[in-house]
Amino acid sequence: MMLLPCPWCGPRNCTEFTYGGDAGARRPQNPDALTDEEWASYVYLRDNPRGPHDELWQHSAGCRRWIRVRRDTLTHDVIEAAPAGARSAG
Ligand SMILES: [Zn+2]
Repeated sequence: MMLLPCPWCGPRNCTEFTYGGDAGARRPQNPDALTDEEWASYVYLRDNPRGPHDELWQHSAGCRRWIRVRRDTLTHDVIEAAPAGARSAG
């Protein structure tokens, strides 16, 4: 069982959360200039890192707030968790 530390509710089972994707993905600055291939890449292609990864999770069965989690995808250890709008310290 993986626990995710909600900043408002405390540690909760990951089954209470909905995965929101890669927290590092950024919407293109000039969307009108993108080709179809570049849009497809932005929408569908994501890295699949082995190790620390920044992710968005929504506490959908709890407070419904979004959190940003830095998680090791190999060990599932949570390195850092904060409200999604907050900036990481590092
Ligand atoms: Zn919560």
